[in-house]
Amino acid sequence: MASALRISSLASRMAVRSAARPSLLAAPVRAFSQSAVARENHPQSLFRFTEDEQMLQESVRKFANEVVKPRTFNMDETEHLDQVVWDGMFENGLMGIETPEELGGAGMSFTAAILAVEELSRIDASVSVACDVHNTLVNTLLRQHGSDYLKEKYLTRLATDTVGSFGLTEAGSGSDAFALATTATKKGDKYIINGGKMWITNSGEAGIFLVFANVDPSKGYKGITCFLVEKEWGVTIAKKEKKLGIKCSSTCELNFEDIEVPAENIVGEIGKGYKYAIEILNEGRVGIAAQMIGIAQGSLDLALPYMAQRKQFGTAILDFQGIEHQVAQVATELEAARLLTYNAARLKEEGAPFVKEAAMAKLYASQIAEKAASKAIEWVGGVGFTRDFGLEKFYRDAKIGAIYEGTSNIQLQTIAKIIKKDYR
Ligand SMILES: Cc1cc2nc3c(=O)[nH]c(=O)nc-3n(C[C@H](O)[C@H](O)[C@H](O)COP(=O)(O)OP(=O)(O)OC[C@H]3O[C@@H](n4cnc5c(N)ncnc54)[C@H](O)[C@@H]3O)c2cc1C
Repeated sequence: MASALRISSLASRMAVRSAARPSLLAAPVRAFSQSAVARENHPQSLFRFTEDEQMLQESVRKFANEVVKPRTFNMDETEHLDQVVWDGMFENGLMGIETPEELGGAGMSFTAAILAVEELSRIDASVSVACDVHNTLVNTLLRQHGSDYLKEKYLTRLATDTVGSFGLTEAGSGSDAFALATTATKKGDKYIINGGKMWITNSGEAGIFLVFANVDPSKGYKGITCFLVEKEWGVTIAKKEKKLGIKCSSTCELNFEDIEVPAENIVGEIGKGYKYAIEILNEGRVGIAAQMIGIAQGSLDLALPYMAQRKQFGTAILDFQGIEHQVAQVATELEAARLLTYNAARLKEEGAPFVKEAAMAKLYASQIAEKAASKAIEWVGGVGFTRDFGLEKFYRDAKIGAIYEGTSNIQLQTIAKIIKKDYR
């Protein structure tokens, strides 16, 4: 096991640093404009991370290279995420990145979570989605809307030893998520859940499920309510899907038959589940964008060193002008996707509107992931087409970016809706 940095104490050090920042009020303008303090308050590039974010980025890179990478091929072949990787993510604080330190988490920023997902995805997009769904959907929904009882009881477990799943989609409700048919019927101080879910990430390993169910179908989507359900209360894993990509991330069908859930396990308010789901998926999309830029970067990382070595016609493949231009084009588009992603993350942290930007980031990053992986295979030639080299995995893994957490058509719809508002 790599001894990657334990990140939970970083946030408190940041607080001490910002408290020590001197007042600017008395400074003459000239001195002010040249001082380090002025530079600190000046708008910065999107690549300027806090010291904690940088440390996290480096530690996840190390973990991905030392612990995940040696297992990636086998995990893909066996379609099983190695327990050593799960344990490593828990031990290194990657399963509670934004969870407060007093609840066992690292207490870090949303951008920190985004950087972690990107770094994991440079090596293995399956591992990154396991981390992403757990953090940006499950932990965040609980952190934002859970009662103190739920937070204390479950956020701690989610940060330390229990995998979480987010159950919204059903057989009949995909893009039209609020057409869901799972019901929760009140019986005394309990609710009885019946129905099922499809395509649920992490569900093969999860101990905790956020389940969206309707408490009053006569109210339509306004009856949708979020419940926290423990696996041992009767969640049945009906089928594990065999997929094109992200194979070692489990994606299962779930059945609920008369599962009794205490009323205190309702997350937030009754009937507000649809609102929470929309909000949380807006955030989650930034995580998927990060997963996609990781895939694009990972493809370049794998292909370019080979292209620098491999010679044809006495010249390194990387030095042919026809190839150089293609590499430059992909690198430029990757940079644009990365900036969209980091900007959406910072907007969200600032409390500014970010829905359009998150949709743009996911849409564009999923396109560049597919393009980068596809081009990298072509640049490398026959060896890129083999399973051993690793690029075909990036190519397969990239496809999911256009499907989950809102298909590309749904992202376009969201972007268009917001743009149109400005012109009406
Ligand atoms: C690997 C994987 C993991 C997943 N993980 C989870 C998870 O953890 N939790 C969860 O709840 N769900 C999860 N999902 C479900 C995922 O979010 C849905 O697959 C996705 O929302 C699309 O729904 P659908 O597959 O039913 O496609 P459909 O909604 O049937 O869409 C089919 C096609 O129609 C298009 N379409 C639909 N509506 C419109 C429209 N109004 N305008 C134009 N085009 C439209 C879509 O863009 C798409 O091209 C996962 C799915 C996969 C494949």
